Amino acid sequence: MTSLIRVALDVPVARLFDYRCDDAAAVIGARVLVPFGRQRLIGIIVAKPDTSDVPENKLRRAFSVLDREPLLQRADLLLLEFAADYYVHPLGAVVMVTLPAALRRVNTRAKTPGAWTLTEAGNALTEDALPPRARAQRTLLGLLREQSVLPHTVISAAGTACRKALQTFVAEGWVTATDAPPHAVAVALPPGIAPQLTGDQFVAVEAITTALGRYQALLLLGITGSGKTEVYLHAMATALSHNRQVLLLVPEIALTPQLESLVIARFPEVMVSTLHSGLADGERAERWQAARSGQARIVLGTRLSVFTPLPDLGLIIVDEEHDSSFKQGEGFRYSARDLAVVRARQAGIPVVLGSATPALETYRNALDGRYQLLPLKNRIQAGLPAIHCVDLRQHKAEDGLSPTLVAAIAERIARNEQSMVFINRRGYAPVLMCGSCGWMSDCERCSAKRVLHLRDRRLRCHHCGHDSAVPTACPECGDADLAPVGQGTQRVEAALIRHFPQARILRIDRDTTRPKDAWPAMRNRIRERDVDILVGTQILAKGHDFPHLNLVGVINADSMLYSNDFRASERLYALLTQVAGRAGRGSLPGMVLLQTEFPDHPLYTALRDQDFDAFARAQLAERRQAGFPPYVHQALLRAEARELKTALAFLEQAAQAAQGLDSGVTVYDPVPANMMRRAGRERAQLLVQTASRTALRSFLNAWRPLLADTESTPARWSLDVDPLDF
Ligand code: ADP
Ligand code: ZN
Ligand code: ZN
Repeated sequence: MTSLIRVALDVPVARLFDYRCDDAAAVIGARVLVPFGRQRLIGIIVAKPDTSDVPENKLRRAFSVLDREPLLQRADLLLLEFAADYYVHPLGAVVMVTLPAALRRVNTRAKTPGAWTLTEAGNALTEDALPPRARAQRTLLGLLREQSVLPHTVISAAGTACRKALQTFVAEGWVTATDAPPHAVAVALPPGIAPQLTGDQFVAVEAITTALGRYQALLLLGITGSGKTEVYLHAMATALSHNRQVLLLVPEIALTPQLESLVIARFPEVMVSTLHSGLADGERAERWQAARSGQARIVLGTRLSVFTPLPDLGLIIVDEEHDSSFKQGEGFRYSARDLAVVRARQAGIPVVLGSATPALETYRNALDGRYQLLPLKNRIQAGLPAIHCVDLRQHKAEDGLSPTLVAAIAERIARNEQSMVFINRRGYAPVLMCGSCGWMSDCERCSAKRVLHLRDRRLRCHHCGHDSAVPTACPECGDADLAPVGQGTQRVEAALIRHFPQARILRIDRDTTRPKDAWPAMRNRIRERDVDILVGTQILAKGHDFPHLNLVGVINADSMLYSNDFRASERLYALLTQVAGRAGRGSLPGMVLLQTEFPDHPLYTALRDQDFDAFARAQLAERRQAGFPPYVHQALLRAEARELKTALAFLEQAAQAAQGLDSGVTVYDPVPANMMRRAGRERAQLLVQTASRTALRSFLNAWRPLLADTESTPARWSLDVDPLDF
């Protein structure tokens, strides 16, 4: 019987496509190979409509259905549909980009599936239809008829000719990959090696496990070192013992592999699927399939894994929920943190958001009672580090280092303890300048300065990568008086070497950690006490446990204090809390020296008191008064073109189209982006804003098709709902 299928395809056109299909396996959620123009594309069946707007004689026939059982269940599609609607992104693109790449490709050789089975077309095949000399093809057909689910191992064993025949069968759509027969599902044991929980931890675990089986968002607000991970592990153990799957989302896995080892060690009986962008396509697809089939009971993953199909999902945890890496920065600009909450609500399960410095959006939800607040107020081991400001107006810094900080490091070296110097810039100096004419090392392609890298003697743009040799004389006036301005990790490292020639100093930034496996080796050196002083950037802030580190110096936080981004304070507070949290995680109490010219700035005062609540309430009050998120909802229309006026003209047109919609949202004037020029393209943006989430959604859904109509425009554009960067 011929039926209609509606297919999601990753094509630039923002709609779904109807086909005819005879295969009984054509169920919602299965992959299908279809003709599209002159190409063959893989898509997912998202609906089986009764009728189509496409005239009968124009409807094309799908080649073959590629899965015997659907890859996506109703619940998975529901989340994708929500995301497509909320972020105003084509459903076809959303469905396809969330699928592992290996499953999106027509060439299925990249992965080795567990087994093969004949498609409808394959079943209809007669031996006469095969070329007379194709003996291996006949053998293969015979094997497939004998065993309806034929393990791949059997084909491999049958020899090269048979494997070649398989390729033909795949290309013709006669066979399709399928799962090997399912394995038994392991049931988690309660953690045997877990430490005794503290009172706060116990209360938090109780609250989470009580919520199993219904929707509840919980904010685990725990200062650094308060044992949030232990709370996750206990809650996970309970969910697993109820035979449910757990999704644990983390900002980054490569930098913090301890968590993965911890989870695996704690649940040795349980299959854990770790999903991150560093995986090879085949590996990613395999792990994704293990999660989808219910074999893997824990998925530990970054951003994209929020979409992993999990038939028995019972608990979602988002660690470091404030981290900006949960937001996708281009294309389909979703927030995995926000979608985790949506997914929990759709599935009727609890979601735990953990952080020492939650996003203000999240914290406001907790203050308003929408999220249950679970505080962990104490550190497990040594107390919180004491934070002191070093007043740079009284204690002059040289090459970024104040005498106070130098003396404190000397003390630590004498006691064989570790120190860390944090600076948010890599390279030697953020800019090279001519003392005579004022020339600066601007990037030709970006509104940014090129950074001086002294090691390899290059001026390099950190935005577009453009670089050149350091000039020996000023390109403008020819004067040789060129001087580095400001501090970077290399310069601070050089200064530390001068102060402490005997010390073992390790610089940790994107330049030194780029080689594969460089970072794990460095981390070992730190843990083995083979390092006295660490100099580094943000990389050092992320959740590491360095037990011998008890002094942290912060070099130029002031540079991040004043910014026209209303989230700058929130970010700086979170960053400094993270950095400070590295000190004193072992048994030694830690100390933080924050060099600043504004020791009385309210942000530093709150940080010194380690009072997130006071800081957050003050920030929220300001946001409410100024009319910023979370009290309003925003979307940003971004455009970029060779020339600024092209981008602005597009936005102008978009603004006019918006006027016609009469929607109650405020549409601002198009303006150049904060970073106007990037990699040779001029960027501009248009902000729309409203207090009503519903108004914003209906406005955006009405507006987007109008934007697509201005397709003739030479500007590239994208919509960013709940933008984090301006
Ligand atoms: P956070 O993630 O909140 O910064 P961690 O989860 O890293 O804190 O915990 C800090 C340290 O305390 C870790 O070394 C952890 O193993 C240890 N820890 C956590 N809970 C307990 C507990 N109840 N008893 C003993 N040690 C604990
Ligand atoms: Zn000059
Ligand atoms: Zn550049």
